[in-house]
Amino acid sequence: MRQVSDNRAVSALFRVFGGKDACCRAEDYEKADWCGMHRLECAVLGFLVPLTVWVAIAEGFVAGLGRGLGISLALPVAFLVLSILSLVPFVRGAQCQWRFWLGLMVAWGCFRIGGPPIVNVLAWTWLGIFALNTAALILLGFRKSMRWTGRIGNTWRVFLFVFAHAAMVSLGFHWSWHWALGGAVLMSALFCWSVLNPSCQWLGPVHLETGDDEIWITIDDGPDPDDTPVLLDLLDVHQTKAIFFMIGEKVRAYPELAREVLRRGHEIGNHTMTHPSGEFWSLGPVRTRREIVDCQEVIFETTGFRPKWFRAPVGHRNLFTHPVTGQLGMEIMGWNRRGFDAVAKSPGPVLARILPNLAKGDIVLLHEATSIAAPVLDAVLAARSKTIK
Ligand SMILES: [Zn+2]
Repeated sequence: MRQVSDNRAVSALFRVFGGKDACCRAEDYEKADWCGMHRLECAVLGFLVPLTVWVAIAEGFVAGLGRGLGISLALPVAFLVLSILSLVPFVRGAQCQWRFWLGLMVAWGCFRIGGPPIVNVLAWTWLGIFALNTAALILLGFRKSMRWTGRIGNTWRVFLFVFAHAAMVSLGFHWSWHWALGGAVLMSALFCWSVLNPSCQWLGPVHLETGDDEIWITIDDGPDPDDTPVLLDLLDVHQTKAIFFMIGEKVRAYPELAREVLRRGHEIGNHTMTHPSGEFWSLGPVRTRREIVDCQEVIFETTGFRPKWFRAPVGHRNLFTHPVTGQLGMEIMGWNRRGFDAVAKSPGPVLARILPNLAKGDIVLLHEATSIAAPVLDAVLAARSKTIK
């Protein structure tokens, strides 16, 4: 499953782009000089910091001692300067030293722009590193804030939404009202993308893959008196367990079916109380909470089971979905395979979309209460068995 990587890297940049696996593990490297740091980060900083210190010192020495002597004398002096921090009590830690050098290099870069060619290049490099790092830091902070739950999460999201629009509009007004309007349209488009694209994770994490060697079968929109019993038999035949994302109102109408799904060893997920598929993306915090909490309560009262997974109707989340699910201790599940079986007339085109390249780690989205639910599930289960063998 996709997660925010955190590898204790010195700079935020590598916490965003550096994978956990690529990180130097402390137990692998006993020496404290680079433990816990991302390999690439270590290589880049480990080369750039000494080079910059040497160039900075040499620049001063050359002016007083001449070119040859200045450059060669700067080398041992740079070595001494680089070692001196490890003797100072409070900055002995590797991370601490690296942060110090990072800060010092950026400060040096600010003052030395426009210097001799090599000085100028190094100065711009450090300012570039600083700019990228700041952007990465903002991104990390944004991702973290998208995990805030409950009322704080809601308020923060409304603030961000209003602030982003206001900022773009006021920025646009500096030039003309056309730009202001364009800014507002752009922000609205970005917002629509974040809620209408089922795999977009700007507003919080969505599980799109299983993260293991399994293929998960998920069946939405039940329980259904015609389909659920047939699908349960098919799952038994193929000895496969599935997750049924149920609609609260249907659970209330067919409580026996919901209990039967659990009795046969499958899991139930929350798919809202009324399945407001056309408007869920635009719902406010109160209605969003009601849709999710009501469904959760109906499922619990009917079956004694409290779902862990939530799936939004047609995958469209809204601004307030994550604060609610987070507060209820639930996670949001998306999918990475679907065949549009809810609107298709025959199984052929649906299977043509799902089956090619079906692989371990996939989450397959299927529906019940359709005319083709059984043949589609049968074919998918057969392909699944072959793939995970
Ligand atoms: Zn649905």
